[in-house]
Order: sequence, then C-alpha cells, then structure tokens
Amino acid sequence: MTVIDMHIHLKYRSSCSNLSMYDLYCNLSVSFNAVCITDHWKLAPLKYNPYQDLKIFYGAEISCKLGDILAYGIKYILPKKKNYDAENVIEFIHKQGGIAVCAHPYTNRHEGFGDYVYEYEFEGIEINGSLDEKYHRLAEKAANSMDIPTLGGSDAHSIRQLNTFGTKFEKPINSIKDIVDAVKNKECKAIKI
Ligand SMILES: [Zn+2]
Ligand SMILES: [Zn+2]
Repeated sequence: MTVIDMHIHLKYRSSCSNLSMYDLYCNLSVSFNAVCITDHWKLAPLKYNPYQDLKIFYGAEISCKLGDILAYGIKYILPKKKNYDAENVIEFIHKQGGIAVCAHPYTNRHEGFGDYVYEYEFEGIEINGSLDEKYHRLAEKAANSMDIPTLGGSDAHSIRQLNTFGTKFEKPINSIKDIVDAVKNKECKAIKI
C-alpha cells in the first residue's frame, strides 16, 4: 500500500503558493509515503531534491474553459493559455499515455467542471482537501456513476493546508507509471488523513 498526496503546489513554481520544499518536508504527515507536485502549467522536476527520503512524483495542473485538470504521466505540457477546450486538453494527455483527473469538479473556490465532469473521458476524479464535505460527496457520486476511482489531494499552497486528503494505492508505487497504471486499473481511492 502507498499513500500519496496527489495535488501540491510549491513556492517559486506556482506563483500562488507559499509552500517551500523545506516546509513540505518538515510538515508532511507520516501517513504519506510520497507526494505528487502538480504546479500550474509546469512539469519539470526540481533540479535537486535534498530530501532523499521523501519520494516525489510530478504531474501538472492544466486549466481549460470548464475548469482545472490534473495530468499525470505526461512528458510535455501545453503552453499556458486561458481558453483550451476540455476535450483538447484531455486528448493531449491521453496521446502521451497519461491520465486526466478532474480537479475539484464541484467547488466554491476554484474553477470546476460541475456536472460537465460527466461528459468527459476522465480516468479519475479528485476529492480536494481544501473543500467541504458536500463538494466531496458530489465528486464521489460522479466517480461512482462514471465507474472511475477517486484520488485525494490537499491542493496545498501553504503549510496549514497540508495533510487533509491523500490517495491510497493498493500496490506499492515506485514511479509515475505505477500511478498511471493503478488509476487505470481502478486500484486506488481518496482517503481522509
Ligand atoms: Zn485547481
Ligand atoms: Zn491546484
């Protein structure tokens, strides 16, 4: 079993974040085995990870007209633009063998797909730790009805936003490919930390 926070923004990489790598390292709950950094429009890994005992994976958060999409298992990122169509972003991710996860589909504080989530080929739906229970329930309902797994992430931009939700993978995860495969095989789910 592996537990990962699948949605974290780091300082200097996402302009909206105050969370440094040091803060993350010092404050991450022991419940987590790894983290996945998902900065906006940015995929490149940190040049140097001084915290060798913390496993770090990388995805990206991409915006489109309807809301935000989390991409995992991709090599290339689209240039930053405001008005991508959802199907184009999802196709871009799929063509690279990656998975598209609908970030915070129901939300009062982000751009979210709302009921449009049902119309797209997502591999998973996020339970976003920055939101209230009622939004989690709607996201879960969509995941159940679409027969795709939920993924949990804190969407942390600061220390106090850490350690809310994570994703529990049934098998050990050692690479981003393992994450992609596990989600495709529906071998994961969001858990409260
Ligand atoms: Zn977002
Ligand atoms: Zn985010």
